[in-house]
Amino acid sequence: MTAVSEPKIAPLEDAVERDLYDVTIIGGGPVGLFGAFYAGMRQMRTKIIDSLPELGGQLMALYPEKYVYDMPGFPKVLARDLALNMIEQGLRFNPTVCLSEMALKMEHAPDGTIVITTQKATHHTRTLIIATGAGAFSPKKLDAPGVAEFEGRGVFYFVRNKAQFAGKRILIVGGGDSALDWAMNLEPIAESITLIHRRDKFRCHEESLDWLMNRSQVTTYLWHELGRVEGNGCVERAVIFDNRTKEEKVLEVDAILLNIGFSADLGPIKEWGVRLEGNSIPVNRLMQAEDRNGNIMQGVYAAGDISTYEGKIKLIATGVGEICTAVCHAKTQIDPTAKLFPGHSSNLSL
Ligand SMILES: Cc1cc2nc3c(=O)[nH]c(=O)nc-3n(C[C@H](O)[C@H](O)[C@H](O)COP(=O)(O)OP(=O)(O)OC[C@H]3O[C@@H](n4cnc5c(N)ncnc54)[C@H](O)[C@@H]3O)c2cc1C
Repeated sequence: MTAVSEPKIAPLEDAVERDLYDVTIIGGGPVGLFGAFYAGMRQMRTKIIDSLPELGGQLMALYPEKYVYDMPGFPKVLARDLALNMIEQGLRFNPTVCLSEMALKMEHAPDGTIVITTQKATHHTRTLIIATGAGAFSPKKLDAPGVAEFEGRGVFYFVRNKAQFAGKRILIVGGGDSALDWAMNLEPIAESITLIHRRDKFRCHEESLDWLMNRSQVTTYLWHELGRVEGNGCVERAVIFDNRTKEEKVLEVDAILLNIGFSADLGPIKEWGVRLEGNSIPVNRLMQAEDRNGNIMQGVYAAGDISTYEGKIKLIATGVGEICTAVCHAKTQIDPTAKLFPGHSSNLSL
């Protein structure tokens, strides 16, 4: 990577006029939230921007009711509870939070500060940390009659609240980890679960497959797909078919859970001039991003799932470490007299 010249620092009076933040974190997922905490601990004026209406990233949006087992200090924690704790910690130093705002444009002002434009506002910041995870993610939708019509009224792509499936006859569509995890999670509370998969090979942990085939009460149909959904105001029936013979079966169901994968879209980030490797932003050890010519982009860092480097492992545990590094380097960038190492949090009295 090419070295960059000393960053220019916007004068203070100018900063107040433009409401200039020390650091803006795009992405309020677990990594962005921890970054906000750390930046607050480093007494940086901090802002979080997220396109979703709530904080928590994938933990809240994709798997709130699943257990996470690999968070230090939590032998087993529900993703939602982990997110709520991370939100509490992330908001500890009162960062400004801008929700339902998609960061559309990023550019450098002539004085070296960074301007982020969303559909609602223009944000000014001395440094930027991109913690946008997989980008704007959305579930792959199934294009079968009745599916769109009953979405939210019996057809679901997410389980936001497990209790709403209690006592229900559930059809789960899919053969990946999510489909099997939900079968496992919902079996104790559902009246019945049927799982259909369009092939005979699953994309899931062996242990889950063994549970499905040998130990569960789930009725499984391989080579089957959802043909259409029927009902009167809410889901009453799912018509499934064998994709080899086209033979149909009618299942009386109350809820259909579609787990056919997610598509992630980097969206506007592609246009920011940041160098990308696939859907990731390559970073150096300081978590700095580069421009398309391989020069360090002044004041721009990336951390969490969106960032990549040799040996990268996409986990919350690694992402939160990355954003500590990014925050501390951003701190010394805007205040060259600041120490890189912040000291231990256990020395604080909060
Ligand atoms: C089913 C499932 C189970 C998992 N289980 C585990 C586990 O057990 N342990 C583990 O460590 N990891 C697990 N993961 C992975 C973990 O969730 C991710 O590594 C983690 O969420 C990454 O955090 P992040 O903050 O980098 O990104 P995200 O959580 O993806 O958050 C990014 C945020 O950025 C926002 N955003 C994106 N683009 C923009 C934009 N242009 N403008 C504004 N906002 C934007 C998004 O809305 C999102 O809220 C799991 C993932 C899945 C899908």
